[in-house]
Amino acid sequence: MAGGWETVIGLETHVQLRTASKMFCGCSTAFGAPPNTNVCPVCLGLPGALPMPNEQALKLAVRAALGLGCTVHPRSLFARKNYFYPDLPKGYQISQFEQPLATAGSLSYLSPDRGIATATIQRLHVEEDAGKSLHDRFPKQTAIDLNRCGVPLIEIVTGPDFRSPHEARTYLLTLKQVLEYAGISDCDMEKGSLRVDANVSVRRAGETALGTKTEVKNINSFAYVEKALTVERDRQIAVLEGGGTVAPQTMLYDSKTNGVRPQRSKEASHDYRYFPDPDLPPLVLSEEFIAEQQTLLPELPAKKRERFVEKYALSVTDAAVLTADRTG
Ligand SMILES: [Zn+2]
Repeated sequence: MAGGWETVIGLETHVQLRTASKMFCGCSTAFGAPPNTNVCPVCLGLPGALPMPNEQALKLAVRAALGLGCTVHPRSLFARKNYFYPDLPKGYQISQFEQPLATAGSLSYLSPDRGIATATIQRLHVEEDAGKSLHDRFPKQTAIDLNRCGVPLIEIVTGPDFRSPHEARTYLLTLKQVLEYAGISDCDMEKGSLRVDANVSVRRAGETALGTKTEVKNINSFAYVEKALTVERDRQIAVLEGGGTVAPQTMLYDSKTNGVRPQRSKEASHDYRYFPDPDLPPLVLSEEFIAEQQTLLPELPAKKRERFVEKYALSVTDAAVLTADRTG
């Protein structure tokens, strides 16, 4: 609680799946390759090239969903998310919109303020990454590297469940732990394999309706998560205490100044005109496939923590320390 205000945060986390090849083609996902070398007609979107789903990526996505207690749907749909950007050669990303892979999960974490708290996972879907615009390679010019185009991702969306920037960070660290334990991702924010966008709003203590939210983007390290959310929370409180209203907009975090600025409207594109991808049939997963992924999940940290508390009469905090990595 910040001076009679309650903070409400929801997180959308993009996680790169640990695969050797991309989501819909055979190109390598190796980090650090020379620009534009891991590309082919499929991920460049050349005419006539057709996408083919990566089975290993689907296995990891299903394992992630099961590890987060989600319902995995035997039938989901790939959809095109359309927008124009120089690092998106196809003019759309393949994602899932209606009928995502999985819904209705949860992840419990040790809140610094509330003890064991539970975040709801509203949905988990599969998508491909876009390329990268490089602004520091040539003076006054933008370079494009398409090696990341088509890299497999899952997006994990929580409800508006966090009550402080610190809680949001603790959830993220817990999520990272689960995904690393289960071998789903290396979750390396510096390499872009875990990225987070946050929805932030504030309301007077005791209010139940949600305030107007903004979306904070460009948070690119764990150290900045809490800082970025705190800056935005404090900005909103200052606006409201000054008698103003919070505009529903996208804010970009700048770690150099520890400040946020509104995204230029030119950069914002909210009408993605989603529609089912005509090049991909519905994703149909058999019961056996889903059950097999469940058997391949290790005992996850929360389960292990409970077992340690029960068996060795440890405190939750001690058990959390002991189960922090998989060898614990
Ligand atoms: Zn390719």
